[in-house]
Amino acid sequence: MRQPSFLKRISNRSWHGCAVATLMLGLWLTPALVPDAAADETDPDVRQFILANTEFSVVHELIHLLIDEIGFPVLGREEDIADHLAIMLLLTRDHEGPLPQTTIDQLQAVIDAWRIEWTIIEQDQMEIAYSDPHSLEIQRLYDLSCLAYGRDPDNLKDFAIANEIPIDRAILCPEDFQKAEKGLNFLQNTFRTDNSGNQITITFDKTETPKETRYKKWLTDSPVIRSVIAQLDRQYRFPEPVEIVFRTCGQSNAYWEPADKQIVVCYGLMDRFVHLARFRQEYAIEPREWALGVARAKSAFQ
Ligand SMILES: [Zn+2]
Repeated sequence: MRQPSFLKRISNRSWHGCAVATLMLGLWLTPALVPDAAADETDPDVRQFILANTEFSVVHELIHLLIDEIGFPVLGREEDIADHLAIMLLLTRDHEGPLPQTTIDQLQAVIDAWRIEWTIIEQDQMEIAYSDPHSLEIQRLYDLSCLAYGRDPDNLKDFAIANEIPIDRAILCPEDFQKAEKGLNFLQNTFRTDNSGNQITITFDKTETPKETRYKKWLTDSPVIRSVIAQLDRQYRFPEPVEIVFRTCGQSNAYWEPADKQIVVCYGLMDRFVHLARFRQEYAIEPREWALGVARAKSAFQ
């Protein structure tokens, strides 16, 4: 969907106005120490983090598009379905064999973003949005981690440990993945129609800052979004043409707007990911350092 959308809650939170503490490390980040978004978005690690999270956001919105335009059924909370199927599209993109490292890195960036958001919520003692249509960030990261681990448990034990999947959950993950793959195959086989493509266009509105221009170049250079879009474009027939628009819109958000047949991705969303990337670089952090149960997870897997 649709507003409220993927990251609406984030857009309502002030990053610069917060005193954020990394309790695990015993450090307080005063507002003066919070990194500036413009500081180093040219760093390759930051770029990878931003692109990975932006790409996941677009795929998540594409699931809302498939629900509204193609008729994918909603048999549960729509936002969970959008997350779930977006993850499965990425996990099954390469079909057989181990998950490519580039895909693992992409998923790890998304997991880390949610973990950092959750850390900020907890440490700033923000109100937890139990009534939100999305699952909590901490739940989204565990669901993503579990499905990824479940795809290839023999090769992804380190991934499971690094992301602190409790053993009680981990033992369910292979079956969860198999069921999710079966569900995805069912949807694809039921709704797929041969099509020549050219129904989904990508538009980059005029950028207003050098930073936005840089984001645009990264996106146009990146193959992931285009390949996922081309795949969906070939596989489904849409009632009307749809458009994915990247533009300046004064908020950190991405959303599907059915009335306009548009997925809108605000450049401000990428600003948010720059902030999170800096947080990860400066304070956070090897995933194994997170103190949410890594010791227990590690011992359980041994
Ligand atoms: Zn959504």
